[in-house]
Amino acid sequence: MDIQYLKGVGAKRAALLGSELGIVTIDDLIHFFPTRYIDRSTIVRIGEIVPDAAYVQIKARVVSREEKPKRLSVWVEDGSGRMELVFFKGIKYVSSKLQPGSEFVFFGKPSVFNGVVNIVHPEIDAPSDEGRSGTMTGVYPSTEKIKNAGITGKVMNRIMEAALNVALPQMQETLPDYVIKGRRLVPLQFALRNIHFPQSADALLKAQRRLKFEELFLLQLSLLKAKFVRMRSSNGLKMTAVGKAFNDCFKALPYELTGAQKRVIKEIRTDMQSGCQMNRLLQGDVGSGKTMVAVLSSLIACGNGYQACIMAPTEVLAQQHYRNICRYLKPTGVSCALLTGSTRAAERREIHGGLEDGSIGIIVGTHALIEEDVRFRNLGFVVIDEQHRFGVDQRARLWQKRTDGFVPHVLVMTATPIPRTLAMTLYGDLDVSVLDEMPPGRTPVKTIHCYEGKRPAVYKFMKEQIAAGRQIFVVYPLIFESEKMDYKNLEMGYEQIVSAFPFPPYRTAIVHGQQAVQEKTFNMDAFVAGRADIMVATSVIEVGVDVPNASVMVIESAERFGLAQLHQLRGRVGRGSEQSYCILMTDFKLSKESKRRIDLMCATDNGFELAEEDMKLRGPGDLEGTQQSGLPIDLHIASIARDGAILSEAREYASRILERDPQLSNPANALLLAALRSGKYAQCDYSVIS
Ligand code: ADP
Ligand code: MG
Repeated sequence: MDIQYLKGVGAKRAALLGSELGIVTIDDLIHFFPTRYIDRSTIVRIGEIVPDAAYVQIKARVVSREEKPKRLSVWVEDGSGRMELVFFKGIKYVSSKLQPGSEFVFFGKPSVFNGVVNIVHPEIDAPSDEGRSGTMTGVYPSTEKIKNAGITGKVMNRIMEAALNVALPQMQETLPDYVIKGRRLVPLQFALRNIHFPQSADALLKAQRRLKFEELFLLQLSLLKAKFVRMRSSNGLKMTAVGKAFNDCFKALPYELTGAQKRVIKEIRTDMQSGCQMNRLLQGDVGSGKTMVAVLSSLIACGNGYQACIMAPTEVLAQQHYRNICRYLKPTGVSCALLTGSTRAAERREIHGGLEDGSIGIIVGTHALIEEDVRFRNLGFVVIDEQHRFGVDQRARLWQKRTDGFVPHVLVMTATPIPRTLAMTLYGDLDVSVLDEMPPGRTPVKTIHCYEGKRPAVYKFMKEQIAAGRQIFVVYPLIFESEKMDYKNLEMGYEQIVSAFPFPPYRTAIVHGQQAVQEKTFNMDAFVAGRADIMVATSVIEVGVDVPNASVMVIESAERFGLAQLHQLRGRVGRGSEQSYCILMTDFKLSKESKRRIDLMCATDNGFELAEEDMKLRGPGDLEGTQQSGLPIDLHIASIARDGAILSEAREYASRILERDPQLSNPANALLLAALRSGKYAQCDYSVIS
């Protein structure tokens, strides 16, 4: 039913609620939950109001009214003190209502102006109205337009009450009875009534738990169902042998694999032998040695007669991977090629031929690899590095490189550590491996925060490092590639560096996203080869670039970067055995949140710890990396950051149900099947692409 027919709504308000908050039907409305609750059972004394207090309720007598240009000021007192109430709208109405001498209950957020406590546009109730609807009142998200249309908090509460009265009596339970009983959940009707109008704090908790559980449970059920379907199908390529190529490479390694690398390779090997398609996410902090894992697993595929493909998000990274991988492959005799957007036509034709006749064993490249005309003789293994930059559909096109009904194994690698609970949701149908051990012989990077005033000291330090033979990154924020402003910052920064570090003797290179590929490569190569001491760059160097001799990372306007990105950038140094430094330059004025981020960076270099904190600070939706790929669905009430325990419980419970009834075909699970089919969870059905 359309909300306009509800008491207190009407066509005009309905249109506004639709355009501002997306609320069209009564069902939308009753699923529009308060973001917080105010305990209105307590009355605060005016003399006890502290500045910046949350919402307060006072009971006070009107002393005087004063109409000023464009505003009405009303003085009230309650025996403990006096305060001012300020109104900019509805002045006539308020003025006639608040007669001196009469008493009211006022409710609002106090602030202090010129040493006087005031509340702007408080809600006004007759004293007898106190505690009208339970002790807690829900507060709903709102907008300026909504408030201007007279839909105040109180009006919203009234509209909600009307909606519940219409909708609840005919509301059907959405979870099977055995789930409700088994998980000790409250019925849906109780939950919806109490999420809006809690009878008590306890009832509210129960309502929240029920609704959060339902949301997370259905989400996990949908994700896991896809995984169960995949695990039961037999279209995976069975690779039983380790193969000679693997062993040749392994024996020639210049170092011992870390314990974590060994464990992960074993996990991958087990998957590849199983006959089911592998869909595995490999998480590992920058420098944890993911490339080696990718190469050795690819060689297992080669050893079983299949081809492998390794896809990187940028040209520069693809080239770097290619160089490293060629080195590792020398002892194996497996041939490797590089295919990117800038590969010349003649070479491209040759590579296409090599992939089709199978003479190329491992192909490294960028998006160019998913082009229609790239065909494989026998693709068996796909590695996608830095997962976030590829969309789901782009991945799907790699899956489809086989036309015989079989699907290649897939390893997705990411250096953006993702909190466990988020991984469960974002990659709910993937198996997860973690490289949680760094190769030995690394000295942790020292991270230092410097305000602008320290710049001369920072430059002096940089000169000492260069004199000691080290190289330095200087990175400028470039949040949006298109923003002219950012390029101006970069250019000005470059000029600043060049004038502080003049040539000769100092050599400075610059790399950014608007350069032609050749120019970018040329400058990058100069730095990698040691022909430049300083590299001024945008965050394009964020992922992957490996220059062991670089020991200082200066991040300009560090407050403009998110935690994950700062951590990624820091990972560019500390790759050699020398002590490395990350210097976070910021403005003097820092928001509380920026300061907290910078402090965290200085306090820990553990990417997973930072990711957990980042999620707490900003919520999972804003986490870097997840922005591009997006959460599979918009969580409505549950929070991945705060409801980790419910999430784990929901996942475990969903998996138990699927073990017994993978298709949810049992009549007892009809409601669950219907919920999954409703489309709300459809986006996370990865089975459509694998
Ligand atoms: P990631 O891609 O995870 O950031 P890389 O695969 O680029 O990390 O590895 C980082 C560096 O560590 C490379 O120079 C690589 O040769 C080296 N490396 C990898 N594994 C080991 C190991 N087990 N022992 C020593 N060095 C290693
Ligand atoms: Mg890497």
